Amino acid sequence: MVTKGEPIYEGKAKILYRTDDPDRMIQYFKDDATAFNAAKKGTIQQKGVFNNKISTKIFQFLEAQGIPTHFVDSLSDREMLIKTVEIIKVEVIVRNVTAGSLCRLLGVEEGIRMEQPVMEYCYKKDELGDPLINEDHIRMLKIATAEELAQIRELTLKINGLMKDFFDKLDLQLIDFKLEFGRHKGHIILADEISPDTCRLWEKGTGKRLDKDRFRHDLGNIEEAYQEVFNRVNS
Ligand code: UDP
Repeated sequence: MVTKGEPIYEGKAKILYRTDDPDRMIQYFKDDATAFNAAKKGTIQQKGVFNNKISTKIFQFLEAQGIPTHFVDSLSDREMLIKTVEIIKVEVIVRNVTAGSLCRLLGVEEGIRMEQPVMEYCYKKDELGDPLINEDHIRMLKIATAEELAQIRELTLKINGLMKDFFDKLDLQLIDFKLEFGRHKGHIILADEISPDTCRLWEKGTGKRLDKDRFRHDLGNIEEAYQEVFNRVNS
């Protein structure tokens, strides 16, 4: 067992704590929600509990399929034990169906299934509003090497295939999602969280949004949507 130490970083939805083991940290999931680069703020009751448990299930599933992740153990309702990684400062977005900022960027309608997944990178830099960047920018800024980028791309496409199947079996369509990766002992591993905060999930048949879009666009029944995804993931 590790001993929880001081908080070292507080983000929009999570707090990271040191432990007495330099290779372990505790990721604490809060109920705070933000959208549109924190222009909209709120609280979603019990979100932290649902996201911790949903992320845990998905990380365990991905690990079982050979994807390296930072997940070590679930410690409590809101706490996950993770490996200490050096976070790579890009958000990797994968899209299977058009939605959100892609529609605004390219002037396309929402809900169009794409034959090939579309990958995007956003520079994790709050002051700039996490701008969309390309692989040349990533190399130029030395955010990651060409070799690391190739690994990230390969892992991301594998994860997309696995997660599409995972949610499909739960009658949820994986529209798009965001991943973050870190360096750990010379390897690239999946980090952060995978939850309705970071994925768009539409119920098959009805198209009902079961993700953070309910908060972003004031669609109501926000807590129920997170609860519903949690129930399905644990069914
Ligand atoms: N996303 C995220 N964090 C971010 C930005 C996006 O988790 O900082 C996720 C978001 O939940 C969605 C996907 O990445 O599942 C694509 O988001 P998009 O760029 O369409 O976001 P929007 O600008 O519409 O919120």
